[in-house]
Amino acid sequence: MRAQVLQAFNTSYVLKDVPTPPAPSGHDILVQVQAASYCHTDAVFASGAMWQDLPRIGSHEFAGIIVNMGPSVSKDLGLDVGMPVGVPGRAFHPCGSCYECRNNDGDPESYGVYCTKAGNLGLSRDGGFQEFCTVDSRQVAPMPAGMTAVETAPLMCAGLTIWNALRAGRVGMHKGGGDGLTVAISGAGGGLGHLGVQFAVKLGCNVIAIDTGDASLKLLSDVAQSLGPLSSKLTIVDAKTQKAEDVLTTIFGQPEPGLEGEKGVDALLVLPEAQQALDYGTKLIKNHGVCVMVSFPKEGFLIQPRDLVFRHIQMVGVLVGRNHQLRAMLNFASQEGVRAIIRTYKLEQLNQLVDDYHKGASGKLVVDMAK
Ligand SMILES: [Zn+2]
Ligand SMILES: [Zn+2]
Repeated sequence: MRAQVLQAFNTSYVLKDVPTPPAPSGHDILVQVQAASYCHTDAVFASGAMWQDLPRIGSHEFAGIIVNMGPSVSKDLGLDVGMPVGVPGRAFHPCGSCYECRNNDGDPESYGVYCTKAGNLGLSRDGGFQEFCTVDSRQVAPMPAGMTAVETAPLMCAGLTIWNALRAGRVGMHKGGGDGLTVAISGAGGGLGHLGVQFAVKLGCNVIAIDTGDASLKLLSDVAQSLGPLSSKLTIVDAKTQKAEDVLTTIFGQPEPGLEGEKGVDALLVLPEAQQALDYGTKLIKNHGVCVMVSFPKEGFLIQPRDLVFRHIQMVGVLVGRNHQLRAMLNFASQEGVRAIIRTYKLEQLNQLVDDYHKGASGKLVVDMAK
């Protein structure tokens, strides 16, 4: 079968003929890949900045059809041969006995998404840039009717991460769960951000979508258009030309002197790796609000403890999400029409995809095996 293999860091992928994986054992299933999406982490991995080994077949957000199942796959998972599923990178073969595996918030028994001994498809195990992939049955979600593999793939990392970030921002994860809340998303015009804007609006939130640069702002105006009447809940902010103080006054009105901290957003999601993004966004958070960190720049962020001490702002971080969140996110996306803006490529064109990514192509870039 064909696979795109990264053989050395800072080199192109090499299209190779590799053996098809054997019949699955234990909890494993064999998935025929239909679509595989490219994530920022694939670029970080290819640069040699992570710790996993080579050679590696990348992509930790993909979708395909189950073609074979191992003998220990639980009936409770509701999976079957011929069923289309979405596949995230985590967690392949968790240990089953550590704290994370024992305290998993209702996921399959002894299955911990955050188990540090588990494999990650596309990083420590081969992922979706190949025709067939061995997958842990407990990590997947059935693809809802009406969604395609190309639509499902980019939700498996970007969609799940931003869904969990909204939850960490105290948004109720059901329709109406964001009613009365205002969420600011810094870096809203990127891969995660433009999905976050759609999820937040459709959960009921008012959303301030912050970005800079023509491509990102254009993507956001496309998202606004796709929201129809709900676009009234979205305010797009160009952080290069609009001051945070002015944004606050425009949206929340002039504050009473001395009570400025009473007006602002309930939650801020920080997606860029830039200090300015955090500084700008923090000015928008009202007292007792929450700042959700999704990015983790190598050099770190400078935080102002006075915002935490005097304004009681909380800071939290998120990393993808659990299997039950993955299933809930995918069903919500299907029902409410949350879709990434996508550009597709053949498997043979993966290096072209990577080039376009580094040139700043907007939306999500996805390999479509049917092309
Ligand atoms: Zn990712
Ligand atoms: Zn474990």
